[in-house]
Amino acid sequence: MSGYKFHLIFTQVISISLIFYLISIQKILFNYNLITLFSFSLLYSLISDIDIKSHIQKVIFIMLFAMFFILIIVFYITNSFLYLFLSLFLILIFITIKLLKHRKFTHSLIFGIIISIPFYFFFDFFYFIIIFISFLIHLIIDNKIRIY
Ligand SMILES: [Zn+2]
Repeated sequence: MSGYKFHLIFTQVISISLIFYLISIQKILFNYNLITLFSFSLLYSLISDIDIKSHIQKVIFIMLFAMFFILIIVFYITNSFLYLFLSLFLILIFITIKLLKHRKFTHSLIFGIIISIPFYFFFDFFYFIIIFISFLIHLIIDNKIRIY
């Protein structure tokens, strides 16, 4: 199990490269969507370790709640329901993880797909890929990829 700082740095190098690729092919400018993408990819690079009672768990919970409040603020600024849905989605992730009995599930591909697929519907396929890769890199670094 690698430290969370290593997870964060390694994931961010890859997801920032992907985000820049996304910008270059879709010709989109930096906006709230990209900030959302970036913060979710940060969160998803760590979220598998939420079941480990340690410093990393606190970091993840702080990130979850900070992102929730930021999304609510962005919703008020932009009046776009997308950000409201995303903040509710974060609460849903939080509740799901709290209810999970099968703890190792957070290190599985099925869990990664379930929490990443909404980005396909909220945004598009590229967002889904970046978010899912952020999640996947964690499993690769940990060297424990499970299907379910
Ligand atoms: Zn892990």
